[in-house]
Amino acid sequence: MTTPLMPAAFIGHGSPMNALERNRYTDAWRAFGASVPRPRAILVVSAHWYINASAVTAMPRPKTIHDFYGFPRELFAVEYAAPGLPALSEEISDLVKPTWVGADLDSWGIDHGTWSVLVHAFPAADIPVVQLAINATKPLEYHLELGAKLAALRETGVLVLGSGNVVHNLGGVDWSLQDVGYDWAQRFDEDAKAAIVERPGDVTALSGHRDYRNAVPTPDHFIPMLYFAGLAAAAGSAPEVLVDGYAYGSLSMTSYTLDAPPQPHAAGGAGAAPVPEDVPADETNI
Ligand code: ZN
Repeated sequence: MTTPLMPAAFIGHGSPMNALERNRYTDAWRAFGASVPRPRAILVVSAHWYINASAVTAMPRPKTIHDFYGFPRELFAVEYAAPGLPALSEEISDLVKPTWVGADLDSWGIDHGTWSVLVHAFPAADIPVVQLAINATKPLEYHLELGAKLAALRETGVLVLGSGNVVHNLGGVDWSLQDVGYDWAQRFDEDAKAAIVERPGDVTALSGHRDYRNAVPTPDHFIPMLYFAGLAAAAGSAPEVLVDGYAYGSLSMTSYTLDAPPQPHAAGGAGAAPVPEDVPADETNI
């Protein structure tokens, strides 16, 4: 019996409110989840586990982490009760040698970069979920290369998912600009799109883009895309845009798939998640 090559994806997750909303982004995430073969496990590289170490979750029952502030109570009530898969942490540690990745038994779990997407893509929460931390001390190339090393997991039924935003500048967020992207955000996202689709092995060159400092003031939401690009470079197949758009001026919502079945075309235009009013950007963590 051969295991089909598992697709992979990078999801632009945007506001945590997307967990509660239905919009064209969440519909695209749902369609992607419904289209793939049932994974053995889901390995997520989330922007929200950005620490000074390389680690992978290894607990049998990861907790749901509500790592944001200033959002409605129903968002704090979301539980994504998927099991973990401790054996996968050992597989990953072996696979990425000589790079060292430690097992996290109790510090992390499933953060909102992961569950805000998975409540749509895999709503039953019955597939084991493991997170891989982003080591903040490492250069961009490290993450691209580590992503490529994870490619073998796709042959054993593991769905690898990056969750971040290619353009993510919280200081520039204007909650009144629901479906809008600033000029520089659009320039960067469009050039990133070309790079990811056509030259995934070379996406770190985007750090030289004239709009990089605006689009990526901190690399936490950008780096999950590097893992996806590493997978694409290793596979030699071209990523496809799952859905694209902008939110609040300074976020891009562009998501990508790799080797996925054909997806229904996501309609453009209105429909991004509404956000609570009176939430200053500096009191949120999206
Ligand atoms: Zn986020």
